[in-house]
Amino acid sequence: MKCDAKKFALCQVRVGIVSLAALGCSAGFATQALANPVHILNLRLGGTSDETRMVLDLDGATSAKILSEDKATGRLIMSLPEAEVANPLKGSAKGPVGSWALVSTSGGAQLSIDLLPGSVVKRRFLLPPAEGSTGYRYVVDIQSPPPVAPTPHPVIAKTIPTENAKGGVVLTSLKATPRAKPVFLKKVVVIDAGHGGKDPGAHGGECIEKDFTLAAARALKDKLERTGQYRVVMTRDTDVYVPLDVRVQIARKADADLFISLHADSGPDEQTRGASVYTLADRAVGRSAKLVTKDDWFMQASYRRDQAVSGILFDLTQRSTKNLSANFAEMLLERISDEQTLLRRSHREAGLAVLLAPDVPAVLLEMGFITSPDDREVLGSAEGRTRLMSAVADTIDAYFARETRLAAR
Ligand SMILES: [Zn+2]
Repeated sequence: MKCDAKKFALCQVRVGIVSLAALGCSAGFATQALANPVHILNLRLGGTSDETRMVLDLDGATSAKILSEDKATGRLIMSLPEAEVANPLKGSAKGPVGSWALVSTSGGAQLSIDLLPGSVVKRRFLLPPAEGSTGYRYVVDIQSPPPVAPTPHPVIAKTIPTENAKGGVVLTSLKATPRAKPVFLKKVVVIDAGHGGKDPGAHGGECIEKDFTLAAARALKDKLERTGQYRVVMTRDTDVYVPLDVRVQIARKADADLFISLHADSGPDEQTRGASVYTLADRAVGRSAKLVTKDDWFMQASYRRDQAVSGILFDLTQRSTKNLSANFAEMLLERISDEQTLLRRSHREAGLAVLLAPDVPAVLLEMGFITSPDDREVLGSAEGRTRLMSAVADTIDAYFARETRLAAR
């Protein structure tokens, strides 16, 4: 901000001395004319190959309008008249979005996007700050053209008899138009069964954590798939060892809308029982040192990019994701409290590496204590697991329903 003010002052001086310089300064002058500009802090892309969501992180509420939309070239220009961006941003393709650039102009911030031909802006909306944050988000959802259904059999054109100019009858064929398949957008939920293979996790009685987590993950997958609303991706669905960073990569590659990691706690006192939920803590962001304890799930790692500047953007990206994670965590605790005792101060924040996929809301659920006979009864029985995972599936339903309601505002 200081730099901009200085540049403005410099421009005014130059305008006074050399009139030609006024041309070069005009853009800077007009940008500064915005009384209280809203600042665009970042632009993030998410979604699937069918639908790409562009999210502009803002420090205040603002509006946007489409200046031009060229269906032939796919070039879309959107303007945010009351906003500015400190440094021009640009990015690469994702789904229907080819490439894009965001710059400040005399008329506010301008976003130009090269879309795949046939893509459309499905919706645009401003999201108010989520609990605990001051940031607004302007969201643009862009949908790919609907896929053309393949024709499995040769098309037999219908023919109808019609009269020609000479009074004779000819057969005119009616072209069969291929019916476009409807596109169903399923939310992608990545379920991460903790531990596995050579990494058994915690023990309690005869039970091993890796077995509890896999059985629970399968129960949750089953619940979610039955609704027909979700595509479920498992980081493992057998007793195999999957390294931590691979789990995070799976979530990112799947374009996850939600990442849930299942674990069971352990403690020295078998009276200690209850579930708890972890989300990402601020202190984990930006930490470059690795603190590895015996259980590598508690490794505090950082997936921060190497450059300082992108580190700041990463932090901002994390913040809004963190809010979503926290919302989900609170909803989850509320719902599972009917099925499972909660550990005191159950919504904990931790720097668990598995939660560090930068743009996927993520929570880690400690379903209970494997060292507690009571919790073992819940987690060790198909019935107990099913009840608990039903509560988790209900939370996931409610979370996405709420997201949709917010989006409709
Ligand atoms: Zn664990």
